[in-house]
Amino acid sequence: MSYGPKQTLQEGYEKFVIKKENDCWDWKGCAPINPGYGQFRHEGKITRAHRASWILYFGIIPEKLCVCHKCDNPSCVNPNHLFLGTLKENAQDMVKKGRHIIPIIKRIKK
Ligand SMILES: [Zn+2]
Repeated sequence: MSYGPKQTLQEGYEKFVIKKENDCWDWKGCAPINPGYGQFRHEGKITRAHRASWILYFGIIPEKLCVCHKCDNPSCVNPNHLFLGTLKENAQDMVKKGRHIIPIIKRIKK
């Protein structure tokens, strides 16, 4: 991971965050590729904003794990609202919360 000095990354990152103590943090960085998910650009690399948040506050994301939202808000980057899960767990989580139906409908309409 060549993110450079952590301080610099964190400073760059926090410019795009509206922090609220225990609430969701809204990402106001670059326009998202996928609706709802913010992007963070640093040294030419583009990372999803919530993944960048995890890296900043907790460290490296193990391979094959994804960063999921406890709060169900894809644009939230509050590290306290994030957890690591496998792709399978993430899919199960979405099914449990009834979120899996929405993206499929959106894709068909396009
Ligand atoms: Zn949240």
